[in-house]
Amino acid sequence: MEKLKKIVFNVIFYITVLAIIAVVFFVMIFVVMKLNVCAMTGGGVQRACVLIDPGHGEEDGGAVSESGLVEKDVNLDIALCLRDQLELSGCRVIMTRDCDKMAGTGSTLSEKRSDDFRKRLEMFNSSDVDLVVSIHQNKFTSPSEHGAQVFYSPNDPRSETLAVCIRRSFKGLLQPENEREITKAGSNIYLLNNCDNPSVLVECGFLSNPEESALLADEEYRRQLSFAVCCGIIEYLGQ
Ligand SMILES: [Zn+2]
Repeated sequence: MEKLKKIVFNVIFYITVLAIIAVVFFVMIFVVMKLNVCAMTGGGVQRACVLIDPGHGEEDGGAVSESGLVEKDVNLDIALCLRDQLELSGCRVIMTRDCDKMAGTGSTLSEKRSDDFRKRLEMFNSSDVDLVVSIHQNKFTSPSEHGAQVFYSPNDPRSETLAVCIRRSFKGLLQPENEREITKAGSNIYLLNNCDNPSVLVECGFLSNPEESALLADEEYRRQLSFAVCCGIIEYLGQ
Protein backbone atom coordinates (compact mmCIF):
# COMPACT_ATOMS: atom_id res chain seq x y z
CA MET A 1 0.00 0.00 0.00
CA GLU A 2 2.84 2.31 0.98
CA LYS A 3 4.57 1.48 -2.32
CA LEU A 4 1.40 2.27 -4.32
CA LYS A 5 1.10 5.66 -2.58
CA LYS A 6 4.70 6.43 -3.49
CA ILE A 7 4.10 5.50 -7.15
CA VAL A 8 0.95 7.67 -7.30
CA PHE A 9 2.84 10.55 -5.66
CA ASN A 10 5.70 10.20 -8.16
CA VAL A 11 3.32 10.13 -11.14
CA ILE A 12 1.50 13.28 -9.90
CA PHE A 13 4.85 14.95 -9.20
CA TYR A 14 6.23 14.27 -12.70
CA ILE A 15 2.97 15.30 -14.40
CA THR A 16 3.06 18.60 -12.46
CA VAL A 17 6.71 19.21 -13.40
CA LEU A 18 5.95 18.48 -17.08
CA ALA A 19 2.96 20.82 -16.98
CA ILE A 20 5.09 23.63 -15.52
CA ILE A 21 7.80 23.06 -18.17
CA ALA A 22 5.13 23.15 -20.92
CA VAL A 23 3.66 26.42 -19.58
CA VAL A 24 7.12 28.05 -19.33
CA PHE A 25 7.92 26.83 -22.88
CA PHE A 26 4.72 28.34 -24.34
CA VAL A 27 5.22 31.60 -22.45
CA MET A 28 8.76 31.83 -23.87
CA ILE A 29 7.48 31.19 -27.42
CA PHE A 30 4.83 33.89 -26.92
CA VAL A 31 7.43 36.41 -25.65
CA VAL A 32 9.82 35.67 -28.54
CA MET A 33 6.98 36.06 -31.09
CA LYS A 34 5.92 39.33 -29.48
CA LEU A 35 9.50 40.66 -29.56
CA ASN A 36 9.71 39.77 -33.26
CA VAL A 37 6.48 41.67 -33.97
CA CYS A 38 7.90 44.69 -32.09
CA ALA A 39 11.11 44.44 -34.08
CA MET A 40 9.13 44.32 -37.34
CA THR A 41 7.14 47.41 -36.45
CA GLY A 42 10.41 49.04 -35.36
CA GLY A 43 12.43 51.28 -37.65
CA GLY A 44 10.86 54.71 -37.63
CA VAL A 45 8.31 53.86 -34.94
CA GLN A 46 10.83 52.91 -32.26
CA ARG A 47 12.72 56.17 -32.50
CA ALA A 48 9.91 58.60 -33.24
CA CYS A 49 8.97 61.38 -30.87
CA VAL A 50 5.31 62.37 -31.09
CA LEU A 51 3.92 65.57 -29.58
CA ILE A 52 0.26 65.19 -28.63
CA ASP A 53 -1.70 68.39 -28.09
CA PRO A 54 -5.06 67.97 -26.34
CA GLY A 55 -6.80 71.19 -27.46
CA HIS A 56 -8.02 73.80 -24.96
CA GLY A 57 -7.88 73.35 -21.16
CA GLU A 58 -8.84 75.01 -17.89
CA GLU A 59 -10.96 78.16 -18.47
CA ASP A 60 -10.77 77.56 -22.23
CA GLY A 61 -13.24 74.70 -22.51
CA GLY A 62 -13.73 74.77 -26.29
CA ALA A 63 -17.03 73.51 -27.75
CA VAL A 64 -19.82 72.21 -25.49
CA SER A 65 -22.54 69.72 -26.46
CA GLU A 66 -26.27 70.14 -25.68
CA SER A 67 -25.84 67.57 -22.93
CA GLY A 68 -22.97 69.56 -21.37
CA LEU A 69 -20.03 67.50 -22.64
CA VAL A 70 -17.03 69.86 -22.73
CA GLU A 71 -14.51 69.59 -25.56
CA LYS A 72 -11.38 70.06 -23.39
CA ASP A 73 -12.27 66.91 -21.37
CA VAL A 74 -12.97 64.75 -24.44
CA ASN A 75 -9.73 65.97 -26.06
CA LEU A 76 -7.68 65.14 -22.96
CA ASP A 77 -9.14 61.67 -22.53
CA ILE A 78 -8.53 60.71 -26.18
CA ALA A 79 -5.03 62.24 -26.03
CA LEU A 80 -4.02 60.33 -22.87
CA CYS A 81 -5.21 57.07 -24.40
CA LEU A 82 -3.36 57.86 -27.63
CA ARG A 83 -0.22 58.51 -25.56
CA ASP A 84 -0.47 55.05 -23.95
CA GLN A 85 -1.10 53.33 -27.28
CA LEU A 86 1.82 55.11 -29.00
CA GLU A 87 4.16 54.35 -26.10
CA LEU A 88 3.18 50.67 -26.31
CA SER A 89 4.07 50.85 -30.01
CA GLY A 90 7.56 52.08 -29.17
CA CYS A 91 7.17 55.86 -29.70
CA ARG A 92 8.39 58.55 -27.34
CA VAL A 93 5.51 60.89 -26.46
CA ILE A 94 5.44 64.47 -25.20
CA MET A 95 2.16 66.19 -24.24
CA THR A 96 1.37 69.92 -24.36
CA ARG A 97 -0.84 69.19 -21.32
CA ASP A 98 -1.70 66.00 -19.42
CA CYS A 99 -4.30 67.48 -17.05
CA ASP A 100 -6.95 70.21 -17.06
CA LYS A 101 -4.44 73.04 -17.23
CA MET A 102 -3.54 75.65 -19.84
CA ALA A 103 0.13 75.95 -20.72
CA GLY A 104 0.04 79.75 -20.49
CA THR A 105 -0.12 82.26 -17.65
CA GLY A 106 -1.49 85.80 -17.45
CA SER A 107 -3.75 88.05 -15.40
CA THR A 108 -6.65 87.95 -17.89
CA LEU A 109 -8.04 85.06 -19.92
CA SER A 110 -6.98 86.72 -23.14
CA GLU A 111 -3.39 87.14 -21.88
CA LYS A 112 -3.37 83.56 -20.65
CA ARG A 113 -4.70 82.34 -23.99
CA SER A 114 -2.07 84.13 -26.07
CA ASP A 115 0.69 82.89 -23.73
CA ASP A 116 -0.82 79.39 -24.03
CA PHE A 117 -0.66 79.59 -27.84
CA ARG A 118 2.92 80.88 -27.68
CA LYS A 119 4.05 78.04 -25.40
CA ARG A 120 2.22 75.38 -27.42
CA LEU A 121 3.75 76.68 -30.65
CA GLU A 122 7.21 76.53 -29.08
CA MET A 123 6.58 72.84 -28.33
CA PHE A 124 5.09 72.26 -31.83
CA ASN A 125 8.30 73.60 -33.39
CA SER A 126 10.74 71.82 -31.07
CA SER A 127 13.57 70.11 -32.94
CA ASP A 128 13.08 67.02 -30.72
CA VAL A 129 9.64 66.40 -32.20
CA ASP A 130 9.10 64.23 -35.31
CA LEU A 131 5.40 64.90 -35.66
CA VAL A 132 2.56 66.73 -33.94
CA VAL A 133 -1.03 65.62 -33.53
CA SER A 134 -3.54 68.04 -32.04
CA ILE A 135 -6.83 66.56 -30.77
CA HIS A 136 -10.08 68.58 -31.01
CA GLN A 137 -13.86 68.17 -31.34
CA ASN A 138 -15.95 70.00 -33.90
CA LYS A 139 -19.11 72.08 -33.60
CA PHE A 140 -21.43 73.43 -36.30
CA THR A 141 -24.74 75.30 -36.47
CA SER A 142 -26.45 72.42 -38.28
CA PRO A 143 -26.74 69.41 -35.92
CA SER A 144 -26.70 66.92 -38.79
CA GLU A 145 -22.97 67.42 -39.51
CA HIS A 146 -20.92 64.49 -38.20
CA GLY A 147 -17.69 62.53 -38.70
CA ALA A 148 -13.99 62.98 -38.13
CA GLN A 149 -11.89 65.33 -40.24
CA VAL A 150 -8.13 65.83 -40.43
CA PHE A 151 -6.47 69.20 -41.08
CA TYR A 152 -2.79 69.44 -41.96
CA SER A 153 -0.10 72.09 -41.75
CA PRO A 154 0.81 73.79 -45.05
CA ASN A 155 4.51 74.10 -44.16
CA ASP A 156 5.90 70.57 -44.54
CA PRO A 157 4.66 68.16 -47.26
CA ARG A 158 4.90 65.27 -44.76
CA SER A 159 1.94 66.81 -42.88
CA GLU A 160 -0.34 65.91 -45.78
CA THR A 161 1.02 62.34 -45.84
CA LEU A 162 0.32 62.03 -42.11
CA ALA A 163 -3.21 63.38 -42.62
CA VAL A 164 -3.83 60.85 -45.44
CA CYS A 165 -2.74 57.97 -43.16
CA ILE A 166 -4.96 59.08 -40.26
CA ARG A 167 -7.96 59.63 -42.54
CA ARG A 168 -7.46 56.19 -44.10
CA SER A 169 -7.31 54.66 -40.63
CA PHE A 170 -10.56 56.42 -39.56
CA LYS A 171 -12.31 55.22 -42.70
CA GLY A 172 -11.00 51.68 -42.45
CA LEU A 173 -11.50 51.12 -38.73
CA LEU A 174 -14.34 53.33 -37.59
CA GLN A 175 -16.25 55.36 -40.18
CA PRO A 176 -16.38 53.63 -43.59
CA GLU A 177 -19.02 56.11 -44.79
CA ASN A 178 -16.94 59.19 -43.86
CA GLU A 179 -16.41 61.32 -46.97
CA ARG A 180 -14.72 64.29 -45.28
CA GLU A 181 -11.54 65.07 -47.19
CA ILE A 182 -8.31 66.07 -45.48
CA THR A 183 -7.96 69.86 -45.51
CA LYS A 184 -4.97 72.18 -45.61
CA ALA A 185 -5.02 74.47 -42.56
CA GLY A 186 -5.44 78.18 -43.18
CA SER A 187 -4.56 81.12 -40.95
CA ASN A 188 -7.63 80.35 -38.81
CA ILE A 189 -5.76 77.32 -37.40
CA TYR A 190 -2.92 79.32 -35.88
CA LEU A 191 -0.78 76.48 -34.51
CA LEU A 192 -0.78 74.36 -37.69
CA ASN A 193 -0.28 77.44 -39.83
CA ASN A 194 2.85 78.34 -37.88
CA CYS A 195 4.23 74.87 -37.27
CA ASP A 196 7.29 73.76 -39.26
CA ASN A 197 7.24 70.12 -38.09
CA PRO A 198 4.88 67.60 -39.76
CA SER A 199 1.62 68.34 -37.96
CA VAL A 200 -2.10 67.60 -38.11
CA LEU A 201 -5.20 68.58 -36.20
CA VAL A 202 -7.81 65.84 -35.80
CA GLU A 203 -11.40 66.94 -35.30
CA CYS A 204 -12.61 63.61 -33.90
CA GLY A 205 -16.34 64.36 -34.12
CA PHE A 206 -19.12 66.94 -33.82
CA LEU A 207 -20.31 67.85 -30.32
CA SER A 208 -23.21 69.65 -32.06
CA ASN A 209 -24.53 66.32 -33.41
CA PRO A 210 -26.58 64.58 -30.67
CA GLU A 211 -25.76 61.01 -31.83
CA GLU A 212 -22.06 61.71 -32.24
CA SER A 213 -21.82 63.62 -28.97
CA ALA A 214 -23.42 60.62 -27.19
CA LEU A 215 -20.71 58.45 -28.77
CA LEU A 216 -17.99 60.91 -27.69
CA ALA A 217 -19.29 60.65 -24.12
CA ASP A 218 -18.64 56.90 -24.24
CA GLU A 219 -15.22 55.79 -22.99
CA GLU A 220 -15.08 52.74 -25.27
CA TYR A 221 -15.76 54.89 -28.35
CA ARG A 222 -13.02 57.32 -27.30
CA ARG A 223 -10.61 54.33 -27.06
CA GLN A 224 -11.56 53.38 -30.63
CA LEU A 225 -10.97 56.96 -31.81
CA SER A 226 -7.50 57.13 -30.25
CA PHE A 227 -6.68 53.69 -31.68
CA ALA A 228 -7.63 54.88 -35.18
CA VAL A 229 -5.34 57.93 -34.80
CA CYS A 230 -2.57 55.70 -33.39
CA CYS A 231 -2.79 53.28 -36.36
CA GLY A 232 -2.61 56.20 -38.80
CA ILE A 233 0.52 57.53 -37.09
CA ILE A 234 2.15 54.06 -37.07
CA GLU A 235 1.40 53.68 -40.80
CA TYR A 236 2.94 57.11 -41.49
CA LEU A 237 6.07 56.28 -39.46
CA GLY A 238 6.45 52.97 -41.27
CA GLN A 239 6.67 54.66 -44.70
ZN1 LIG B 1 -11.19 72.83 -30.33
